[in-house]
Amino acid sequence: MQYPINEIFYTLQGEASFVGQPSVFIRLQGCNVGCAFCDTKHTWELDTANQVKTIQVIEKTGDRLGWAYFSLEEILAEIARYPACRHIVFTGGEPAMYDLRELISILEDKGYSTQIETSGTEILRVSEKTWVTLSPKIDMPGNKTILAENVARANEIKMPVGKIQDIEKLKRLLQQHAVTNKLIWLQPLSCKENPTKLCIEAALANNWRLSAQVHKYINIR
Ligand code: SF4
Repeated sequence: MQYPINEIFYTLQGEASFVGQPSVFIRLQGCNVGCAFCDTKHTWELDTANQVKTIQVIEKTGDRLGWAYFSLEEILAEIARYPACRHIVFTGGEPAMYDLRELISILEDKGYSTQIETSGTEILRVSEKTWVTLSPKIDMPGNKTILAENVARANEIKMPVGKIQDIEKLKRLLQQHAVTNKLIWLQPLSCKENPTKLCIEAALANNWRLSAQVHKYINIR
C-alpha cells in the first residue's frame, strides 16, 4: 500500500480537542471539495507533473505543490524520527479519500493514537479508535455531500466560520442529522476580529466551543 503525501511534520496540534498535543501530521494529497477559503489548495490535484521524491517531501518546510508516494515502511520510518510523539494526525487535502486502516492498525499496535481531519464527504476507512474531527464543508463547488454515517461517527464537529451564514449552515446540519450530544467547535477562518467575534458570540449563545487555531497565534506550523 502506498499513500500520496504532501507533507509529514511534527508540531503541536493547534485546533479543537487535541490542542497542544505533540503530533505528527501526515498531509495526504488530493481533494475535490473545492472550498474557496481552502488554505491548502496545493493539495487538491494528484498531478503526476508535481510528483517528487520522498526525500523532497520529507525536507519540505512549507506549503508546496510537490507530493510523493510513501510506502507503509517509509511512513513509519518518518514517524520514528520523533520518538516522543504518540499521536498521529491525518489531514489533507481530504485524507478520507484513502484506505488508512492498515496503516492505522500498525500505528495502534505500536501504541500511537490517531486522528483524522475530514470534510465528511468520503466513506471513512479508519479504526474504531481513530478520533474523527469532522470539519463540514457545506455547499462547496465540488457539490459533495456530507455523509450521515460520518456525522454519526464524528467525535467532534469543527465548523469553519467566516460569516453568519456559516453558523446557520451548521445549525441546519445539526438539525438534519439530529445531533444533540457532540462536541461542537467554531473555528474562525482567519485571526481577524470579525470571524473571531462571530465565533465567540455563537459559542456563548449555543454552548459550543471556540477553536482559535492556536498555532497561528504562537507562530508554529
Ligand atoms: S475540504 Fe479541506 S482541503 Fe478540501 S478544499 Fe475544503 S478546506 Fe481545502
